[in-house]
Parts: sequence; C-alpha cells; structure tokens
Amino acid sequence: MEYFRLRGTGVSPGIAVGEVLLSEGIVFTSRKIGIKKEHIDRELKRLDVAIHRTGEQLRKLKEEIGKKVGSDHSFIFEAHLFILQDDSLISRIKEIIKDEKTRAERAISKVFEEYSKMFKSIEDEYFKQREYDLKDVLSKIYLNLESYKKLKKDDGKEKILVAHDLLPSEAASRLSQGNVLAVALDVGGTTSHTAILARSLNIPAVMGLSQITRKVKDGDTLIVDGTNGEVIINPPLAIRREFDSKQKKYDSYVRELKKTAKLESRTLDRVRFFPFANIELPEEVDLAFSMGAEGVGLFRTEFIFFQRKDLPSEEDHYQVYSQVAKNAGKKPVYIRTVDIGGEKNFPQLSIEKEPNPALGLRGFRLSLRERTHFKTQLRAILRASALNKNVRIMLPMITGLEEIEEAKLIIGDIKEELKAQKFKYDENIPFGIMIEVPAAAAISDSLVKEVDYISIGTNDLIQYYLAVDRSNELVSYLFKPLHPSVLRLLKFIIDSAKKEKKEVTLCGEMAADPLSALALLGLGLKRFSMNPIFIPKIKKALRSVEYKSAQMIVEKALDLKTAREVEEHFLESILSKHPKALLATEAS
Ligand code: PEP
Ligand code: MG
Repeated sequence: MEYFRLRGTGVSPGIAVGEVLLSEGIVFTSRKIGIKKEHIDRELKRLDVAIHRTGEQLRKLKEEIGKKVGSDHSFIFEAHLFILQDDSLISRIKEIIKDEKTRAERAISKVFEEYSKMFKSIEDEYFKQREYDLKDVLSKIYLNLESYKKLKKDDGKEKILVAHDLLPSEAASRLSQGNVLAVALDVGGTTSHTAILARSLNIPAVMGLSQITRKVKDGDTLIVDGTNGEVIINPPLAIRREFDSKQKKYDSYVRELKKTAKLESRTLDRVRFFPFANIELPEEVDLAFSMGAEGVGLFRTEFIFFQRKDLPSEEDHYQVYSQVAKNAGKKPVYIRTVDIGGEKNFPQLSIEKEPNPALGLRGFRLSLRERTHFKTQLRAILRASALNKNVRIMLPMITGLEEIEEAKLIIGDIKEELKAQKFKYDENIPFGIMIEVPAAAAISDSLVKEVDYISIGTNDLIQYYLAVDRSNELVSYLFKPLHPSVLRLLKFIIDSAKKEKKEVTLCGEMAADPLSALALLGLGLKRFSMNPIFIPKIKKALRSVEYKSAQMIVEKALDLKTAREVEEHFLESILSKHPKALLATEAS
C-alpha cells in the first residue's frame, strides 16, 4: 500500500483516522442512445415520472435534513425545487429527446454539457455555485430514470468520505448520517457549503487536495488533519501512532474548550467580558453560539452580493438578515453594511479600475455613490430589526463626521418611508461605525458622541496606520498588532468610548490572538468579536487573568519602544503572574 502525504486547505479543524469511502459522482453519458420516432412519447413520459420522483425526494430530503441539522441546511433543497420547476430547463431536455430521437439519459447529459460550457465562460461566483446546483438536480433526475448505475451505498460503518466534490444535497444527506469521520475533497474551500456544514457538525475536513480521488481506493487508511490541512494516505505505524496521540490531545483540548464555552465570561477578579462572533453566513450562527458567542459582533454582508449574478433585492437581503436575527434569539447582531470596492471587486456594480484600490471607493464611500443599493440594504436591515429587536446597523470605512451625518439622514428617510408603507422596524435600532481608518481613530472622541457604539476593525486600522498591506506576504512581518503605536492608538479609542459611556468592540483578527486579547483587556476592552472557532481559546485566556494585573502590564507596555519589547514584556509578566492564560494558546 502506497504511503502519501497531501496538503490542502483545512476547512474544519480536528483529526480523524479511518477507512476510505470513495464517493463516485454521477457520470453523465456522452453516448447517443437512439430511439424510434414512435417511442418519443414513452421517453417523455419516463422523463416526467423521473422529474416527479425527484420532486418528491427533494421535498422529503428537505424535511429530513431540516429535522436532523436544522432548517439552515435544508434551504438548499428549496433552491433545487425551484430549478426543477424551471420551464426552460425541462423544455430543453424534452426538445433534445424529440429532435435527436434519443433517450432521456443522453438529453439530460447534453443539457448539462450546454450549461457547463456557458458557466465556464463566465468568471462569476454566483454562476459557479449555480452550476453545482444544476448538476445536483440533473443527477437526481438521471438517477430516477431507473436505468442508471446505482451509486455505491455506504454500509453505515464509520468512514472517511473522499470525493472530487460533494454536491450540496449529497453533503447534507451524507454528513448528517453520523457515520462520516472526516471529509477529504479534491476541490472546494472554506466558504463552500460542505465546509460550513462540516464545521457545524464538528467533522474534520480538508479541501483543495486536487488529486486525492486518484490516489486512494476504498478501504485505504487515511489520516485527515483538518486543523493543519493535511491528509496522509496509508500511514506507516509510527505516523499513525503520532496522529493517534495528536488526535487524543486535540479531542481533549476541544472537550476542555467546549466546557469553557459554557463557563461565565469573567476574569479571575470577576470582571465581565463579552465574546462575540464574526460571521459571513446565517448558517454559522448556531456554531458561534455553541462556541460561547454572546452575539454576532460582525456580520459581513459581502457574501450576499458574491452569491448572486444580479444585485440582491430587498427580499434577498431580508431573507438573510431575518434568518440571522431569528437564529440569534435575543442576542445582538451587528450587521455591517456592504464593504466592497478595493480588492473585493464586484462585477454587478461596474466599479472603475482604481490606481490604489485600498485607498479608493470602498465600503461606505461606495455605498454613498451606489445609494439605491445602499438604501435597499438598509431597508432590509431595518425590517429585520422588527423581529427580535436585536439588530444593529454598522458602517464600514468611516473617515469623518460628515459621513455619519449623511448616513443618519439616509436612515431617517428610510424609516419615514417604511413607516408610510406600514413596515415595522425597531425605532431605537442602535447605529454605529467601524473605526478602521486612522483619521477616524484620531477623532474617535468626537465621532463616538454621534453614534450608539463603535467597533474597532484592526485588520484595516493597522494596515492603514502602519502602512502595511494586510494581504501582502512581503510585508506581513511588519503587521504588528502589539506595536506600541498601535497600543497607544487603541487606548485612545477605547478611552474615548468609555468617557462617553458608549459600547466599544474590537472585531479584527487581533481579538483572536490570546496575547493581544490580554493586552486589549488591559486597555479596558470588554467586547471581543472573532471567528467563532477561536472563542473558547480567548475565553480561556481571559478567564485565567486578573483584569487589574492586565491593566498594570499594559501600562508599562505603552512606554516600550518596539513590538518585540511589548511581546516579551507580556509573555514574561503573564507567565509569572498567570501562566494558565498562556496555556490557552496550546494545541491550537
Ligand atoms: C477589520 O478591518 O478589522 C474588519 C473586521 O473588517 P474586514 O476584515 O472585513 O475588513
Ligand atoms: Mg475592515
């Protein structure tokens, strides 16, 4: 048995060791299977029966998956039912059967080829996603034609699922069975539906392995390390032992963290802090809360735009926001209006090419230019605020007071409009801004007076303040959240909010690093928003220190000259006073 190691993207953490179950996707036929003219009607009837059966299966799956893993994951079947009712699609299949006098199998395959060709010529996330859904539905009809080759059934034993890709419905039904130990795919990435599902079900997963399906066969032994994005095929005993012990360590680490998720968010001296989640999809809410999030501190809404061919309608926005607001119950949800422009380009808005996109028409600046779309988004956010009164409006890339005033006028107008149209909304919906441009940071003492809360976006704030492109590997060594200049700036922002008795949250990656989180606590920050999987770790770190000593340690750090001095000072002081706080970084 050959031994291989493959690297991919770890999209769901954890380690699993087990036997391979290779999933064969359906292969459409390229063989023309001719029929006689008088059999055309019989063939059309066969197709109708298969379509009808597919509809019944989709409805059943929708109900089953809804019960097993929640309605967030069953909406996919609703989308598939829509595709099934698409007249142009079904008529095209029928047309091919009639014109080419061929069996339905070939007609379906040909329709798929035609659509695939069209999808390939378009570089658009929305279309890529639709191709996937279309294939899923066509495969189902194909299989329901009866003359298909039966797909391999799994025997119910625990296995590691290996596939080129998983169709959305296949992912939902297979992963919810409870016998999938891990997933390894040739393609895919962090935001794919399968990745999200794997994370919410705690199934380790690695994607983007490009050739794994060619390298394994049923029954091979596989190690999947979803934390480090590695897959090992037929490991020798020594490696297997190494991973067995890593797995045990990881599992007990997770058990511990899960316990932490349920514990109170208080420091050793009983000072309350609040962990929140940064999310991009409504499906992530449940995972966030299971990790101990006390709300959604940042809901990035760009995904709604990237998922579509056209611009999202008010209803498209509303569907998403109302789902998040409902899932969050009484917990707060900070919805950030769209932050596109810059590198996050978006074909639907025909944004000009800019010489320096990071300093260009980005975030709120673009929203002001594309006012109609901005208003559409705000209307949906306001309407969703009526449901649980837990929604907050948050604006990205604010530089000055004029922008806040302008935004308030727009929101005021929309409220009037909604009232006139008898739509409900939360009259007191909190309104806040992100502090992520140094200019806004420098006058945060006056800006904070004009809003209900502020949220510090250190990913951008540090990028602009230290002049370090956040996505440029060549200068990433200069991206230093613990640079004394950054600490001083953060202190000013946090103090400004406190003086006005306004909420201040930090939602950049910095909040997910234990050492930085301890520094932030020392600066007086109590609200930390981050990718949900880091919440237990940060909670553990913050629960292991005294607020008072964090304050003292930071005070000295503010007088140091370099980031390295700050780091060393922190490590030494924390290690001597609260060594447990640093244990939180282990096994991560
Ligand atoms: C930030 O800039 O810190 C932030 C949270 O926003 P984003 O990463 O989406 O730019
Ligand atoms: Mg930002």
